Amino acid sequence: MRVNALKLHNFRNYVNLKLVFTQNINIFLGCNAQGKTNILEAIYFSAMGRSHRTSIDNELVSWQQASCLINIGFSRIGVENELSLQLKPLNTRCIKEIVYNGHPIKPRDLMGSLNVVLFSPEDLMLIKGMPAARRHFLDLEISQASPAYYQQLLKYNRVLAQRNNLLKKIRERRENSSLLEAWDEQLAQLAAVIIIKRLAAVKKLTMLANLMHRKITDSKENLVVQYAVHNLDDAEILKDCGELQQAILHKLLSSRDNDILRGSTGFGPHRDDLVFTVNGINLRNFGSQGQQRTGVLALKLAELEFIKSETGDYPVLLLDDVMSELDEQRRTQLLYFIKDRIQTFITATDEKYFPEIKQGKYYYVNNGHVAE
Ligand code: ATP
Ligand code: MG
Repeated sequence: MRVNALKLHNFRNYVNLKLVFTQNINIFLGCNAQGKTNILEAIYFSAMGRSHRTSIDNELVSWQQASCLINIGFSRIGVENELSLQLKPLNTRCIKEIVYNGHPIKPRDLMGSLNVVLFSPEDLMLIKGMPAARRHFLDLEISQASPAYYQQLLKYNRVLAQRNNLLKKIRERRENSSLLEAWDEQLAQLAAVIIIKRLAAVKKLTMLANLMHRKITDSKENLVVQYAVHNLDDAEILKDCGELQQAILHKLLSSRDNDILRGSTGFGPHRDDLVFTVNGINLRNFGSQGQQRTGVLALKLAELEFIKSETGDYPVLLLDDVMSELDEQRRTQLLYFIKDRIQTFITATDEKYFPEIKQGKYYYVNNGHVAE
């Protein structure tokens, strides 16, 4: 996967920007608040249809402007593609128009077109933060490799929201609890598919992350990633999809009264988590800051390999401000891993982090202007 060119119009602090990239390492240098991350954000937005740092699309449109446009040319498995994304704020809403190779598409159909992996200092939350961050990481990784999974996930979330809505109405005695049956059936079916897919992905991920982790730590530490199904015994999840579906249905039924009291569904893949251990010790609770950073780096490298093995192509790598966070050994490991293999976009405030990069292309970012 390779991004060839990017055009921005009224995006964040860019009025008009046209860039052509190298297939190797693209390095954006500049002082704080000049627009380095904005460029990575535009690439990320083109891949995911949403920003990595805000859920409010209107914030991406330059202040006092009526709309913004991102135009991106990229190749996947040698085939050239073009995406254009226009955002038009309308009161508090934002109208998103996406055209892929000349055809209008819905935002939900964007997933899997351009694959990216973003790594920023906030990714430490992947280890330290709440389960939602870990589920999001896993879901994005699988979705990029398998857009069908993403559609299942969207469907699951819709059914879940409808079930929760109904639970509240039942609590307020505005609906009858017999109505839950149909929703439970649907929810259990989608939940089983999602859990099975996540389990398979984690099986592969733990192997890849372990390998990467061993390289970074000179085989001194052993990283393991496990998928933890909330409130369900391990034995139950090892069964096939149909049996798992029955087990989930049973669980939904037995926790129905609690769900009605709470007005939300207490069981399902929206409650599951990932557990990281290093040499058998839980990384979230007992890992040192350095161990947690190494863990995140290993996971991100594993994510690149995962998507490559599923799609046949490495995703594009976006490294926002991470160079200053890594020590020299890890920085060298990372650059060695990506060199000549993965197209990478790096932001940094200082050139000193890249002494070894000869094939990189440098861009100097200054207040919404970029000089090569
Ligand atoms: P740092 O090194 O601190 O991470 P950066 O170069 O990555 O900085 P960005 O986050 O890319 O900085 O850009 C921040 C700049 O973009 C700020 O000057 C901010 O005022 C400007 N900016 C953000 N959103 C908009 C917008 N909607 N319209 C105009 N300018 C914006
Ligand atoms: Mg930045």
